[in-house]
Amino acid sequence: MQNVVDVTVVGSGVSGLTTAIRLAEAGFSTSILTRERATNTTSIVAAAIWFPEPGSRSFMERSLEVFLELIGDESAGVYPLDVTEYVDYPLDDANPSWAQPLRSYRILTADEVPAPFAAGHVLGTVRIEPPIYLPYLENRFETLGGVITEQDVTDLSDVARENRVVVNCTGLGARSLVGDTSMQPVRGQVVHVENPGITDGHHTQIEGGPFTYVLPRNEVVVLGGTRLVGEWSLVPDDETTKRIVEDARSLDPRLATSEIVKVAVGLRPGRPTVRVELEETLSGLVAHNYGHDGNGYGLSWGCAEEVVRLIEYATSTS
Ligand SMILES: Cc1cc2nc3c(=O)[nH]c(=O)nc-3n(C[C@H](O)[C@H](O)[C@H](O)COP(=O)(O)OP(=O)(O)OC[C@H]3O[C@@H](n4cnc5c(N)ncnc54)[C@H](O)[C@@H]3O)c2cc1C
Repeated sequence: MQNVVDVTVVGSGVSGLTTAIRLAEAGFSTSILTRERATNTTSIVAAAIWFPEPGSRSFMERSLEVFLELIGDESAGVYPLDVTEYVDYPLDDANPSWAQPLRSYRILTADEVPAPFAAGHVLGTVRIEPPIYLPYLENRFETLGGVITEQDVTDLSDVARENRVVVNCTGLGARSLVGDTSMQPVRGQVVHVENPGITDGHHTQIEGGPFTYVLPRNEVVVLGGTRLVGEWSLVPDDETTKRIVEDARSLDPRLATSEIVKVAVGLRPGRPTVRVELEETLSGLVAHNYGHDGNGYGLSWGCAEEVVRLIEYATSTS
């Protein structure tokens, strides 16, 4: 059923596209205004896997549910992935509550854990291939009748005046667009290398030290990573590339001869907490959905559905 309320989503990274799809599916007449198409956003640089993080647990769990369904759709670019994580603290709960939504979960035996780590586990999760998944989302939105227009928005009030509801999915752009100074870039550099046939992932983090990951895509393996808060440069740093490749090769020796294909940098939209809320402004309703930091994919479906709930409630009672 078509909803009489027009909604404009600003931004078309993973957050904007997912939100626009759910709004269109709920019957809202939805369009997108965006400075860049999805393949030029932070979302294209993401690793991108579902990995448990503290906070926003219900949004995370809902997103995983949807991703698990999408594995069955060949055009979506979503695949099962087992990630082995080595950690520097003991793991003794064989059935932790945070692992419930995963496809599978197993603690490694002591002889499977390399030095200097204290323990390890294998998380049965999903990986998302952004160069396939983002065009899939665009296509799904357009098939629902949605229109994507490239336009730089300088004032949300202008958009809000012309539509009853605006959704702000501008990621780091929200810092200047709505003056949210709690937003910070969290710079991440990744190195793509040839894939020698790797289909499982590795992840490590030692308290206070750099973290390392090795995550396969169909053609390449994505190696990371860095988290530099407050750094705006999109220029890859050669020393960092070297460090990432060395660390990844010691974590997964199968990469010993894999050549570098590409180095990419993305600025995660960092915020103390993700902002998913409705604001009544003098010009109209503005729903915010930004600040997902390193978890924009992991939160995407849960946050999008929350935005739809908020807008449905506000427009049915006003
Ligand atoms: C190296 C790296 C690895 C990552 N790995 C993962 C991972 O494994 N799992 C995971 O879940 N997440 C991961 N992330 C995080 C993830 O990429 C982000 O959280 C996510 O992409 C944010 O999506 P978004 O749509 O909110 O923002 P963006 O992708 O930045 O999109 C913002 C959109 O808003 C538009 N916009 C901005 N300002 C304006 C304006 N004024 N007017 C019009 N349009 C505007 C932009 O053009 C763009 O279309 C990773 C990120 C990096 C950098």
